[in-house]
This record gives sequence, C-alpha cells and structure tokens, in this order.
Amino acid sequence: MDKLLPLDNLLQQARALDAGDPLAAERANFHMPQHPSRGGEALYFTGNSLGLQPRAAENIIAEELEDWRKFGVEGHFKSRRPWVNYQDELTEGLALIAGAQPLEVVAMNTLTVNLHLLLISFFRPSGNRTQLMIEAGAFPSDRYAALSQLQLHGLNPEDHLIEIAPRPGEHTLRTEDIEARIAQAGNRLACCALSGVQYYTGQLFDMARITAAAHKVGATCGFDLAHAAGNVPLKLHDWNVDFACWCGYKYLNGGPGCAAAAFVHERHARRPELLRLAGWWGHNPERRFKMEPDFDSMSGASGWQMSNAPVMNMAALYASLETFKRVGLVALREKSLALTAFLESGIHAVATDTGERLEILTPADPAARGCQLSVVAHGHGLELFKHLTDRGVIADWREPGVIRLAPVPLYNSFEDIAQFLLLLAEGLRTSS
Ligand SMILES: *Cc1c(COP(=O)(O)O)cnc(C)c1O
Repeated sequence: MDKLLPLDNLLQQARALDAGDPLAAERANFHMPQHPSRGGEALYFTGNSLGLQPRAAENIIAEELEDWRKFGVEGHFKSRRPWVNYQDELTEGLALIAGAQPLEVVAMNTLTVNLHLLLISFFRPSGNRTQLMIEAGAFPSDRYAALSQLQLHGLNPEDHLIEIAPRPGEHTLRTEDIEARIAQAGNRLACCALSGVQYYTGQLFDMARITAAAHKVGATCGFDLAHAAGNVPLKLHDWNVDFACWCGYKYLNGGPGCAAAAFVHERHARRPELLRLAGWWGHNPERRFKMEPDFDSMSGASGWQMSNAPVMNMAALYASLETFKRVGLVALREKSLALTAFLESGIHAVATDTGERLEILTPADPAARGCQLSVVAHGHGLELFKHLTDRGVIADWREPGVIRLAPVPLYNSFEDIAQFLLLLAEGLRTSS
C-alpha cells in the first residue's frame, strides 16, 4: 500500500488549494448533478459538452413566463426585459466573452445555423479563389457545413476543401504549419474556418497569427468558438477575425440547445452589399414594424439576424452571462490554469504510481490550451471508462479511447480532480 501515499497527499493538497481559491464559493451558484454511488455530488467534467445549470436560471425563466401570463403580446414592450430587444440583453456579456465591441456580436439561432449564415457571407468563391480550409478531424457538424457550402457553389471537396492535419506522429497542429499551408494555397484560398479550441484534442489555436496569414493571401478568416467561448480569453476584434460563432450551452451554461452567438468584425459592420440570408429581425429596427417590402440591414452582427428572439431559449443564457460579467474572465482563466495544471500533474503522478501509460494529447503549453485535457490510457478501453462512470465520474469518451476531461473554474474544485485521480488509479489497477 506504500505506493498509494503520494496519491493520499494529492487529496490533502487539493483541499488546501480549494481553501485558498477566491472563486470556490461560485460552485454554490450551480446545481451539481448527483450520483448515488457518491451519496451526493457527481464528479462532473463535461462542462465542455453541457455546462451546469446556474441557480439563477430558474428565476429568470419564471419571470419571463410570468410576464407572458400577465401581458400576452404586450410583453414585447412591457416585460422587464422587453422581448422585442431580448437579444440585446445578451450583447454586453457576449462582447466580454469574445473580446469584441457590442456592435460585433449578436445572440441568435444555434451554432451550426450561424456557421452556415456566416459562411454564406464570408466564403464567396470566385475565379480561381475557391478553396475553403478547415482542420482535419473537425467537429462533424462543421465538416458537414463546409461540404454543403462547397456544394452550394457547385465545388467538389476533393479540389476545393483543404483539411489541414498534424504532422505524422503528432496530435496537434503547429502554427507555422498552418501558416505555411495558407501561404501555399495563396490566392486560391477563399476562406479559412478553423475551431478556436479543437474539441477532440483541446488545442487552442493562435487565432491572431492564423487570421494574419489568411489576410496576407487575401482570404477571409473565421472561427468556431464552441470550445473556446467562456473557456479562454478571446480578443476577436484586436485579432482582426472576420467572423466567428459559438454555442451558448457549453462553457456558457445557457442550457441544452440554447441560443448561440455570432461575431462579425466592425470592418464589415456597414456593408449592406455583403451578401447574407436576410430576415425581418436584421432590418432597421426603427422601421421593422412598418412592414416594408425591401430589406434595410442593421449595422453590425445584428444585421445577420433573421427571426425574433427565442426568449425562453435566451433566458438561462442571460442569467449565466451575468455571472461571467460579475466574476470576470481574468479571474476565471487564472483558476482554470491552476485546475488544469493540477489535473495534468495528477495524471502524471497516477501514471508513475500505477506503472501505466497515460498520454495527454492536449498541448503541454498552457498558452496552447483551455481547461480540457484529452487523455489516452494505453492498453485500457471502455472498461476503464465504465469503472469511472459507475463511481460517479461524468466525463466524455471518444473512440478509439480518449477520455476528455474539462475542469471548469466556475464550478469544479481541486478536490473533484483529486477524487477523480484516485478513481482513475483504482480503475487502472483493476481494468484492462
Ligand atoms: C458543440 C459543437 C457543435 C454543435 O453544434 P450545434 O449546432 O449547437 O448542435 C458544432 N461545432 C462544434 C465545433 C462544436 O464543438
């Protein structure tokens, strides 16, 4: 049993870190899922998939239901957060999350829909400039979107879709390789659309450098920030990114299927000639209810809106963004770096302790990742994952054997991580 001793220390160390954590109290503002085997709270590491419910969400949704009861259609103007401008309630929080000006962001639709709407505007193949670049192993929805956008222009993917892959034997992309591939495509590249944080590996891309490289060859550049928003600090405006989109239900805790966001850089804010799929909610709001036949686009990202705001769908996101505004992204990132570093060193300690091979696919450089670590336990399969799941660990399993873990600074503790590591060590000893 001697070998267990360093892992016992891990638990003590975790409790000391929690005691000194200025954000420790935030956990109480969330509903932690329960698990019978733990006689209480589960060990939740899937905030990268569905963020937990902020306690404030229920109240905000109840208020909207009450206003609907009280006012009917007049709630569009008389409710406490008038529904006619409900998307505007989210602007300040989304701008903070994105490092954007308020004009540059809007809450609307869902993520894949927004990706399509933005590609319609920013992937405009013409002449020899026809190529669309994504990363190999992109989230399936993004790849489907890219393929169908090519189809929309009558372009075949073999010649017009570039999927940039890591070097043989490597799991993540090197920025200089992305830059070189963009330069190689040159004036054939129309648009570069990568993730901000790669969902599978957890790699955070250097969006400023990638954008600069794309602009140098005359291409547009945008990012899917599903795994970046609320996870890592973003400066979309300063980085000169053309467009971006992200969902509200991962790190932003807006609830399943909630409204997503879109970013369009200020440079494109007043370009009504920029082709888009239009709807009445993107129309000049002063004249929207005059029911005019011709479209007069709003300035900024708002000009991409199509429909009136799904209020119930935005209410929980509103509640959650208030937390981000209060806590601030600097404090969140600081804790996030500490949590993930603790998880990383713990995984190395468990590997040493058990004599097993645990490989972390995510970059070791904290500047090249968010909170997530993607871990491969070599020689172990689903049985290990089941061992963890049966004992109250909620993590994510991806074939062929990657466990993705996302300790979220708003509600995960260092003790959550230590408890997980003890179960991992136990699982490695008993499973194959
Ligand atoms: C989560 C995620 C999606 C999901 O798309 P929805 O339209 O919200 O269903 C798409 N792309 C990426 C990269 C994601 O991480």
